[in-house]
Amino acid sequence: MRILNIHEVNDVRLDPKDAPVAGDKDVVIKVKACGICGSDLSYIKYGGIMRKPGGVTPIGHEAAGEVLSVGKDVEGITVGQRVAINPMNTSTNIGSGGPEGAFTEQVLVGDARLGDNLIPLADDVPYEIGAMTEPLAVALHGVNRGQVKAGDKVAVFGCGPIGLGMIIWLVDRGANVVALDLAPERLERAKALGAHHVINPGTEDVRAKLIEYHGTGRVLNRDAVGTDVYLDAAGAPTLLNDIVSNMAKFQSRMVITAAHMKPVEINLGKMLTTEMTITTAVGYPDEFAEVVANLGRLQDKIATLISHRLPLGEVIEGLKIAATPQSAKVMIECDA
Ligand SMILES: [Zn+2]
Repeated sequence: MRILNIHEVNDVRLDPKDAPVAGDKDVVIKVKACGICGSDLSYIKYGGIMRKPGGVTPIGHEAAGEVLSVGKDVEGITVGQRVAINPMNTSTNIGSGGPEGAFTEQVLVGDARLGDNLIPLADDVPYEIGAMTEPLAVALHGVNRGQVKAGDKVAVFGCGPIGLGMIIWLVDRGANVVALDLAPERLERAKALGAHHVINPGTEDVRAKLIEYHGTGRVLNRDAVGTDVYLDAAGAPTLLNDIVSNMAKFQSRMVITAAHMKPVEINLGKMLTTEMTITTAVGYPDEFAEVVANLGRLQDKIATLISHRLPLGEVIEGLKIAATPQSAKVMIECDA
C-alpha cells in the first residue's frame, strides 16, 4: 500500500506502507475517494504539522470509503458499509497531524463510532460526493456563524471549494448571494451554483457593485452598502478593512473562514458606529451529519465542485492542480 506523507517543507512523497489492522475498537476503511484541501497545500508549505525531526506528516482528511474490517468491540458498523469519515472526531485527527492520513488505500479509524466519526452514506450517494462532506461542512459552519436566514443579502469573498460550498448552502437557504473572486473560471462556477450576481474585484469597483446588487444601507448619517453578511473565504487582508471602513452597514455581520497568515489592520474607529459583528468559523462542530443528510438532494450541484479526478498514484500532480485558480476540488480516487 501507499500513503502520502509530508517529509520536509515542500517535500511530499507517496511512501510505501503496511496495511492497517483494526484493534478491538477500530475500523479499517477502504478509501474510495479523498479530496485535496487548501489546508493540505498549507501543511506542505509549512513542512507538516507538529512533525518531529526526521518524522513525517500523513495528510488527507476529506475521505469516504467502504468498511473493510471491524474490531470486536465496535457497535453498529458492518463490513461493506459505505461511510464518510468525520476526521475531527477521530482519535488520531486523520490527516491533520496524527499518525493517519487518508491519501492511502486503507485508513485506520481508531475508536470508531457510528454516527460520530463514521457517518453512513445512502446507496445513491457516490463516494466522491461523500468525500465532499468535510469541505461542505466547513462551508455550512461559516454560513451558520453568519446566522444567515432566508432573504439575507450575503457577499461571499473567494470562490474556491469553501466559498462555492457556501454558495450552495446560501442559495438553498434562500439568501440573495453575490460572489466575488479574481478568477473568471471560479465566478462561472459560482453562477452555475445559483449565485445571483458575481463581482471581479480585479476589474470592478466592489463597493459600487455591491450597492447595485444589494442596495444601500445606513450607518448613522452616512450611506453604506446594503449587504447583511460578509463571508470571507478568500483571506484577502485589505478587503476586510475596506468592508469595515467603507462598506459595512449598521449591525452587519462578517465571518472569517479563510486562514489569514499575517495580522490584519482594521480601523476600529470606523467600525465603532457600525456596531458590526466580526467573528470566525473553523471546522464543523455540529454540521457534519446534517451535510451527509443533504448529499443525495444536492448531489448534482455538489458534483460541479469537482474539477479534476486523479488516481492515488498521481496525487502529487493533483496537489499542483489544486493550487491553480482554474481548479475547484481535486478528487483523488484511492482505489482506481
Ligand atoms: Zn478540508
